[in-house]
Amino acid sequence: MPLEEYKRKRRFEETPEPAGKVEKKSTHRFVVQKHDATRLHYDFRLEMEGVLKSWAVPKGPSLDPADKRLAMQVEDHPVSYFDFEGTIPEGNYGAGTVMVWDVGTWQPLSPVPVDGKYVPGTEAEATAMLAKGDLKFRLKGKKLNGDFAMVKMKGRRPGSKGTEWLLIKKHDEYEVPGYDIDEYDESVLSKRSLAEIAGDAGAREWKSSRPAAGRGKVKAAWLADAVAKFDKKKREEKDGRKPPAKKKQKT
Ligand code: MN
Repeated sequence: MPLEEYKRKRRFEETPEPAGKVEKKSTHRFVVQKHDATRLHYDFRLEMEGVLKSWAVPKGPSLDPADKRLAMQVEDHPVSYFDFEGTIPEGNYGAGTVMVWDVGTWQPLSPVPVDGKYVPGTEAEATAMLAKGDLKFRLKGKKLNGDFAMVKMKGRRPGSKGTEWLLIKKHDEYEVPGYDIDEYDESVLSKRSLAEIAGDAGAREWKSSRPAAGRGKVKAAWLADAVAKFDKKKREEKDGRKPPAKKKQKT
């Protein structure tokens, strides 16, 4: 059942997060929430199929096509989560401060480029691309714009949960080489910083009670390795040396 996992993880009498329901209609909005939980991360959500399809992106999205951002798919969130900004109390799932970092609309792109350019796709194509693990889309946001791909990582790494995707900016006029997300610590809803949303006293208490090291960092050898393989495969496809890999059957 959709949203079952979302509801199971939360105690709505304690958290200010919405309980929500599956919507009959989807408009095409996206939201990125900056979430100062156990580890700082960004939650990337696309409104689709009556819910918000969601990924936790430890380093956050980037406008630099050279960056391949690990994105862990998490449970679908209700559409009413879209403008949630505030603090999830200690002791609750995802405890910490949430900022609405970016909002806007998204559009599926057809998986087949025309004259080397991506063109708008259909709803059915979006559903199929998500299922296949290679979703291409165009964002019109306040911070994020242009063409992106969310690509599911395949393979059988030890410890892999099968929820790892990569969020990658495509080349276009919106790309920003060397994009530094830390320069943009401001809510698109309230113009507040994460510390301001948390409240100054709370923010101080927090920062001092947690080790500075490790926050927002992902150290995983398999990730670097997987990204290198992904790059190699893409290069080979581009050069026409090797046809795109056939989808592997799961055993
Ligand atoms: Mn989160």
